[in-house]
Amino acid sequence: MTHQGVWTIAEAHEGKIRTVSYELLARGRKLADDLGQELVSVLISGKVEQKELEQLIARGADRVLVVFDEWLDSFIAETYSNILCDLVKDRRPEIVLAAATFNGRTLLPHAAMRLHVGLTADCTGLAIDPVTRDLLQTRPAIGGNILATIKSPDHRPQMATVRPKSTKPLEMDGSRQGEIEYVPFRTAWVDSRVKRLAVREDDSEDVNIQEADVVVSGGRGMKKGENFKMLHTLAKTLGGVVGASRDAVDRGWAKYPQQVGLSGKTVTPKLYVAVGVSGSIQHLAGMKTSDNIIAINSNEDATIFQVADFGIVGDLFEVLPLLNKKLAEEVST
Ligand code: FAD
Repeated sequence: MTHQGVWTIAEAHEGKIRTVSYELLARGRKLADDLGQELVSVLISGKVEQKELEQLIARGADRVLVVFDEWLDSFIAETYSNILCDLVKDRRPEIVLAAATFNGRTLLPHAAMRLHVGLTADCTGLAIDPVTRDLLQTRPAIGGNILATIKSPDHRPQMATVRPKSTKPLEMDGSRQGEIEYVPFRTAWVDSRVKRLAVREDDSEDVNIQEADVVVSGGRGMKKGENFKMLHTLAKTLGGVVGASRDAVDRGWAKYPQQVGLSGKTVTPKLYVAVGVSGSIQHLAGMKTSDNIIAINSNEDATIFQVADFGIVGDLFEVLPLLNKKLAEEVST
């Protein structure tokens, strides 16, 4: 029996589908169309509202496979993997994609190992080879120094995790038709050796640059780490977080989880402020799809101005203090 269908693993939190699930559907839709196959969104969850499932169809899925039980309220890799492996064995998809989130990065390797198939982690590009129809899985490799394209020609399903924020969800289309199928839950799936004792949210700033609406990034133009205080002030006033170029991270002015770009994180905030950042191709790869970009740079020819919606040509050591002062006055009035 041949393998058919592109599957994307959806994630839900407190009954709501996470946006990353819609990003995955945008990726999956293109692949499914190129293969002429069905796009299936698979949701394993403790609770989710019906209208949320309909959103998965409105965002590109042809079918939604739901496994639903209170046992699945918290993410337990072994239990989720038991479910995914059985579904894959029963229905034989051609491709299975998950987001490179905590859940996706844990679930897919576990399932891939048990299914004896390959897995490419943290892809930034996916396409179908027009000749072989294999999945071309592209990701930065060797410390981000090359972009490697990886294939799994001999095993099915082809599995990959996809970097969050590396694509935008499709527009909602309420007229799309699709099927929602509930798969009966089996208690045999539950791995009772693992229990959730408590959940503690990680709200530290440096891990949140992909979730933030506002990211204020500093580059080599900041001259020293201490000057990042000015960026923290600006970020705090704007309700955002601080990011950095690789150069600033390499110099120890910011931490690696704050790095924006090809070998760092991809961000798409509502507002991205680039301060003393030249706009190298690798930096732009991580932020150019932000909704609004403001650049502050003393060199009017800096590449960053080519993607900026607003540019301030000037010495950041004059501009930033003025901006912080002005914004502080606005906030206090
Ligand atoms: P620079 O390019 O040195 O720019 C500093 C800017 O500050 C200049 O434009 C300058 O005009 C401005 N400036 C200086 N003084 C002032 C002042 N007083 N006021 C205002 N402006 C001032 N880079 C990333 O950022 N992220 C990545 O993920 C990444 N991945 C990479 C992967 C590979 C494989 C490679 C080869 C490189 C990667 N890089 C990455 C590095 C990238 O090529 C650049 O070296 C880096 O982005 C430069 O950082 P920068 O803009 O801070 O520094």
